[in-house]
This record gives sequence, C-alpha cells and structure tokens, in this order.
Amino acid sequence: MQRLAIARKLPAPPAALATILDAANNPKVSLPEIAVIIERDPSISATVLRVANSAAYRGSNEVRSIRQATSRIGVRGLRNLALCHAARSCVQPRQLGGFDLDGFWESSLVRAVALGKLYVLQGWDEAEGFTVGLLQELGVLCLVLGDPSSAREWMDEVAATPESQVDIEMRLFGQRHDYINAELAQEWSLPDAMAQVIAHHHEPHLARPEYQKRVALAGLGEAIARVLKSGRLDLLEALEVRFHSALGLTADKVDALVDEVSAQVSISAAEMGIRASPSRSVEDILRAANHGLVTMNLSYEELVLKLEESNREKQALMDALGVVNEELSRLSATDPLTGLSNRRVFEERLSSHIAQVARLGGGLALVVADIDHFKRVNDTWGHAFGDEVLVVVAEALREAVRTGDMVVRSGGEEFALLLPSADVAGAMQVAERALELVRGRELLAPDGQKLVVTLSLGVSWLVGPGDKSSDITAVAHRLYTNADSAMYKAKRLGRAKVVRYRAIVPWDATKPRGQR
Ligand code: GH3
Ligand code: MG
Ligand code: MG
Repeated sequence: MQRLAIARKLPAPPAALATILDAANNPKVSLPEIAVIIERDPSISATVLRVANSAAYRGSNEVRSIRQATSRIGVRGLRNLALCHAARSCVQPRQLGGFDLDGFWESSLVRAVALGKLYVLQGWDEAEGFTVGLLQELGVLCLVLGDPSSAREWMDEVAATPESQVDIEMRLFGQRHDYINAELAQEWSLPDAMAQVIAHHHEPHLARPEYQKRVALAGLGEAIARVLKSGRLDLLEALEVRFHSALGLTADKVDALVDEVSAQVSISAAEMGIRASPSRSVEDILRAANHGLVTMNLSYEELVLKLEESNREKQALMDALGVVNEELSRLSATDPLTGLSNRRVFEERLSSHIAQVARLGGGLALVVADIDHFKRVNDTWGHAFGDEVLVVVAEALREAVRTGDMVVRSGGEEFALLLPSADVAGAMQVAERALELVRGRELLAPDGQKLVVTLSLGVSWLVGPGDKSSDITAVAHRLYTNADSAMYKAKRLGRAKVVRYRAIVPWDATKPRGQR
C-alpha cells in the first residue's frame, strides 16, 4: 500500500504520452496519425524536431515538419523519445529540495548511452537500451518527491556506497526505487522487455528468464557510468574484468567502448538539453593515474614490482569472479525461498521431456497447484509468516512426488509438478496426495492460531509418440495452460480439490495468438 502512495507522488505523464504509447503498441495506427497527436503538444514537438535533425538521424536535408520528423524517427523511436521527454518533464527542480537534478539526469544519460551500445552489441534495438537506461532510476525521483528533506542524505550516502543503494532507500524512505519503477512501468504501459529491466535490475533473479540477459546488461551499463563519473582507474580495471567474464570482451575493446560512450554522451546531452560535464576518455583516466604514480616518485624497479603485483591482483580477481559466476548460475536456477527449481529450469526440463515422449512414446503429466486464499494469510499474519507457509507447502509437495519427478515454484504462491512417465490416473493420485499432505501439516500462526492450508490443483497430460513436425514449445505451452485452466476450475468449484483438464493435449497444438 505504501508503495502505491509513494508512486502516486510522481505526476501523471502528459496526456500525449499515453496516446503515443497506445499508438506505438497498435499496428493499425499510422505514422501520420501519430504526427497529428504530437503536433498537439508543443514541447514534445520541439523535442521531436530537434532529434530528427540531430546526428543520430541526420539525413540529407533539414526536417521542418513534424510529419517528416515522425517518418524519419519511426514508431519505436518516437515511443522512446516520448518516454524520455515525459520522464524529464514531470519533475521540476524546485520540488526536490537539495537534490541534484542535473546530476541525476547526467548520470542517467551516461547509463542510457552505455546501455544503448550494449544492446547493439547483442544485436538488439539501441533506442530500447537507451530508454531503459534513462528510466532505470526514475523511482529515485518519486522517493525524493515524497520526502525532499532526505534528498541530500540519499545523495551523500549513495555516492559513498553505491552498492547499498536500496538498503539506504529502505532506511531513509521506507521504500526502494526499483519497486516504484515496477509500478511506473505498469502505469506508463511500458513493454515487458523494458519493464522487467527497470523493475528487477537490483534483483536479477526475479526477472523473467527471457529478460535476464537484459537485466545483466543494465548492471554493466551502470558500471560504465560509474567509471566515467569517477574517473577512477581501479573501477576501469574492475570493469574490464567484468566485461571479460560476462561477454568475453578484451580490455582494449572495453576501453574503446568506454570512449565511444563518453563521446556520444556529449552529443546526446546537447540534443536533449541535459547539462553534462566535459567528457572523459580512457586516456584521461590513465594519464591521471600515471600522474599519481609519478608524483609518488617511484623508482623504475618499484614501478615494475607494483605492476607485477597489480597483475597478480587482477588474476586473483578474475579467479574469484569465475567462482561467483558459477554460484550465480546455480542461484538463478533455484528459488531462494523454497530451494525449489525455478521456472527457467522447469521450462527447459519440460521441453526435453516432451521431446522424449514425442520420439519414444510413453506419457507425461503436469500438475499446477495454487495455494487457496493465500492473500488472507499475508494480510492476517504478515508476509514473513506467509513465506514460512510457502516453505512448508514446498516441503509437502516434495514429499508427494517420486524421485525423477520435478517440483518447481512457478510463481508467487503457485507450484508445478512435472511427472515424467505418469498417466492421468497416476497424476490425479499424486495431486490428491499433495493436497492431503499440505492439509495435514501442523501450522501455528504467530498468534497461536492453528492454520490449515489447502491447494487447488489442475492436471493435464500427454501421451506419445507424437509426430516429428510437432512444435514442442507449443505443446509445452498447451500442457501448462490446460493444467492452469483446470486449476482455475478447481477454484471455481470451491477450492481444496483436484480437477483434470477435459482432454489430452494434442500433438498439433499451436501457440494461441497474442500469448508468449
Ligand atoms: P486464490 O484462492 O484465488 O488463489 O486466492 P489467493 O489469495 O491465494 O490468490 P491471490 O492471487 O489473490 O493472492 C496471492 C497472494 O500471494 C498475493 C501475494 O502478495 C502473495 N505472494 C506472492 N508471492 C509471495 C511470496 O513470495 N511471499 C509471500 N508471503 N506472499 C506472496
Ligand atoms: Mg492462491
Ligand atoms: Mg495466484
């Protein structure tokens, strides 16, 4: 609730933004129609004209009308421009106490340019990366708008220990910028690919699997911004190591990238009317560091020794990173609360089992289980007790299945059981057993009340062999949606029961339009 209250402090985006976003998501709307919408908002018009004539879009002749400008920039570019414009125009410096708004937009711009370049490296849309980078910290403005008197403290503390940013925010504001981002993203109807990054860049494991790479890149973009802002050689070196382990880039390539970002920032700042400090190159950083060494008055031998030592440190850092990366990939496979596999692992396993059944025959069943009235548990005894209940349910589900079966936490209070080589009767039995085991657990609420938890469960199944041309992803998707809809039927029939889907999943399943 508190989350909503704070997010509301951010003024609503200009009306034109909503229309442009709708238009960008609606293939029926044409560019000339969008041009008409833009013409109605003089400040967005000015931005659009300026950008259409900037280096990024420079054509042979000058663009004078909004109509020409929109066709030069394109729908996606316009959407991003409108977002950037809205983000910047919805807060005025005087509302923010001692907060350094110029500094905020400057670092946002560096992050935006960096992330745009990183997206390009992946073959993705640069404008999307740019916009995500620019919006990534927008929640900070809401926090500061909500309590301008803590603005200065936020700046000082975050500058000193950037890695503790969200803890600092919880302490000062009782809320975190990334959680607010999640709400803004929804309110501004951002596409999922953007929303997931700005909402989860501090908790990458919460992002949907298909967006985790984007979230990881956002972390790298942030690191580039920090190097350019601080001009510190140690951060540059750490950045080189990080890029090497994440993307396999050599140090030279990383340096070139940092320089490219730095040069582009000056250009974009001018275009967007953002005040930026003079740009800093890698050479500047090295020169400053060398200057430091010379004034330390080291002899040549000492310098060589120092260099060897720093190389050793760098190697140790690289080794340590290898270990951390392994741990990260393990972590991203399991749900931290229950220790169950997460949805990504589950989807991989599901596809490989279906492929096997398609080829060799046999059966496969899926059970989707959702805790009944779980919201009440949270509302009555708090989130922490809710978490305990989730752990207990996870244990009971593990007990209900056989070895070789898989239990996953597929969402908040929703679980799935993957039962290879089960037929529908067997799967119904497992589901009934799961319900009984959960119901039988002794649960004592913090106020001493005894609590009985129940589940609603849906079962779907599949029998092989299938034909070679089957679309495995579509079949997996259907298996899941069938179990899910059976589960909802169990809810409608009064909860605490198992329902099987009315039909077996067909091998010629196709993905329904508009879904995943
Ligand atoms: P229904 O019987 O229809 O499923 O009702 P419900 O209350 O279980 O379902 P609803 O979807 O309305 O609410 C689910 C709740 O689960 C809301 C959300 O706050 C809570 N939840 C989701 N993930 C977690 C979590 O990790 N921990 C805790 N404690 N609660 C969670
Ligand atoms: Mg529920
Ligand atoms: Mg639910």
